[in-house]
Amino acid sequence: MKTFLLLFVLLMHKHPPTKTVVYVCDSTNPKKYHLKNDCRGLSRCTHHIIEITLDVAKKRKLELCKIEQ
Ligand SMILES: [Zn+2]
Repeated sequence: MKTFLLLFVLLMHKHPPTKTVVYVCDSTNPKKYHLKNDCRGLSRCTHHIIEITLDVAKKRKLELCKIEQ
């Protein structure tokens, strides 16, 4: 059991979970995600700004906002 835990810890260390958080305007049909929550592109958002992971953003076929490219 100890060996298993050690192996688990080592694997986690080698491959840290990539949880990059990005920001999306929670409008009805968002198309862009933002790396910073104070991005100019988000200042126009009249809805809530939500945090999602980059993985989720890519699954939802969102694109990085033009200002931050
Ligand atoms: Zn942006």
